[in-house]
Parts: sequence; structure tokens; C-alpha cells
Amino acid sequence: MNEDCIFCKIVKGEIPSTKVYEDEKVLAFEDINPIAPVHTLVIPKEHFDSFMELNDAELEAHLNKVIKEVAKIKGVDEKGFRLVTNIGADGGQAVKHLHYHILGGMKMPTRNM
Ligand code: 5GP
Ligand code: ZN
Repeated sequence: MNEDCIFCKIVKGEIPSTKVYEDEKVLAFEDINPIAPVHTLVIPKEHFDSFMELNDAELEAHLNKVIKEVAKIKGVDEKGFRLVTNIGADGGQAVKHLHYHILGGMKMPTRNM
């Protein structure tokens, strides 16, 4: 856990969130500022600064499974969705706790994002 990390605080329940899925290792919750009709974030409960820091193959596989499950829960699995993880400054990562954006419920733009 990282004291100053807002997503660690969400994991601990210190900041409220609208939960979509939770298990021992992973949490999914609604993005506070959605940019699409479906905008859900999937995070490992353990703090990793970004995708680049994740070095646990088992957890990585589990995250991938949960992402698919959350896509089903949100009803975007059939029509499709966008899966994004921003990394670092040039990647536009604002929150330095690894998270995957599940974006859908609309036709996502393919340019000028
Ligand atoms: P990033 O730009 O780091 O990839 O995305 C961070 C995301 O976290 C943004 O889409 C932003 O709206 C979301 N976010 C930031 N703070 C909070 C919060 O306190 N609660 C929730 N639910 N989402 C947040
Ligand atoms: Zn964190």
C-alpha cells in the first residue's frame, strides 16, 4: 500500500467508490469522470506504479480474467470495448497505481484520442 495513492485509499475503503467486482486481489469500480457510457477501472489491490512494474505472472493472468468478467458484467463483451492502460508521463497516466480502463457502450473513436 502507498500512503498517498488514491486508488490504495479506494482499496482500503477510505475513499468511496462504486464497486463493480471485487475479490481478494482485484477490484473494479466506476470511473469518477466517465468518458464513455461504460467506463470501469480494474486494479490490483496491491500497489504497482504502472503496467511496467507488474512482475507477477499469476496476478497478471488473474487480472486478464477479471477484465473479461467485468466486460461481461457491464454488458460490453458482445459488442466490444476498449481496454487501455496508460503508462507514465507520455502515456497520460494521472493516477500512479496500475489500472485498466474498460471503455464502451458506444463506438469508440479510432483517431484523435
Ligand atoms: P489515468 O489518466 O491515470 O489513466 O486515469 C485515471 C482515472 O482515474 C481517470 O479516468 C479519473 O477519472 C479516475 N479517477 C481519478 N480519481 C478518482 C477517484 O477518486 N475515484 C474514481 N472512481 N475514479 C477516479
Ligand atoms: Zn496505490
